[in-house]
Amino acid sequence: MGTDESKIPIGISSCLLGERVRYDGGHKGHSYITRTLGEYFDLKPFCPELAIGLGIPRKPIRLSRSDKGEIRCIEINDSSKDYTEKLSECADAQQTWQRQLCGYILKKDSPSCGMERVKIWDDVMPIREGVGVYADRMMQNVPYLPVEEEGRLGDAVLRENFIQRVFIMRRWHQLVADGLTLAGLIGFHARHKLIIMSHDQIYYQKLGRLVASAGKQDVAEKSKEYLLELMAGLKIRATRKNHVNVLQHIQGYLKNYLDKEDKQEMIQTIENYRTGMVPLIVPITLLNHFFRKHPNDYIENSWYMRPYPAELSLQNTI
Ligand code: SF4
Repeated sequence: MGTDESKIPIGISSCLLGERVRYDGGHKGHSYITRTLGEYFDLKPFCPELAIGLGIPRKPIRLSRSDKGEIRCIEINDSSKDYTEKLSECADAQQTWQRQLCGYILKKDSPSCGMERVKIWDDVMPIREGVGVYADRMMQNVPYLPVEEEGRLGDAVLRENFIQRVFIMRRWHQLVADGLTLAGLIGFHARHKLIIMSHDQIYYQKLGRLVASAGKQDVAEKSKEYLLELMAGLKIRATRKNHVNVLQHIQGYLKNYLDKEDKQEMIQTIENYRTGMVPLIVPITLLNHFFRKHPNDYIENSWYMRPYPAELSLQNTI
């Protein structure tokens, strides 16, 4: 698979890149992914149905509950054509390149690629509680990988959440590539603490304890545990309330430096964010402005203030 080192490697269902690989010879090209995310991501397409030898066009398949209650992936008009094992084995065979990725964008509703709420058919009505066979196995094999579906990227909070996790995953890969040390792990955590705090207090405390308990001998083991917990915690959506707590915490670092007017402006801006009058970018921009005048190493190094390229405009919509 081709590589663009300057961009972040992301796996993607091929049909979302406009490749005509669907059962009917069509595609599901997605302009936000190809145009906007394509600027930053090296999108690596993969179609599991093609990979297991199903041609184009092909008979459509779906998830179905068998008489024994098992979920199988079968051809709609011929249940003897069962692709469950092949799709699962296909995911296993992709682990080497998937472990290098920083995220994966899947096609929603697909019996192979769907991340959640895929229809499972039985005699009566389909119920939306399935997971595509390839996607399910891939998520088990690489459990820390940020994964999202194209449909959910239309939601500003979910979009920001996914891209935030992707950039953090990229920094993690860099940390490991540089040679994982105890000091490296402690530094990584320090720079991400405020982001974790904005997602979930319980994970914030749990991760803090995990890093504090790590020693030089077991840093490799503890790091694996840390990554899994980190990515689980970051999946929890950051709320406006949590962001307000973090913003107030950051504001505390300025308390000896701001005059009355500046302090009042900062308080009012955070309040405007809390009530939904302005997006997150507004208090962040004001804080960055004050910290330029009154630098602080901890805040300067925190990824919370600049988590991803500003051009993605993600903080303008949450
Ligand atoms: S959803 Fe997955 S299996 Fe179906 S066409 Fe797209 S990439 Fe291929």
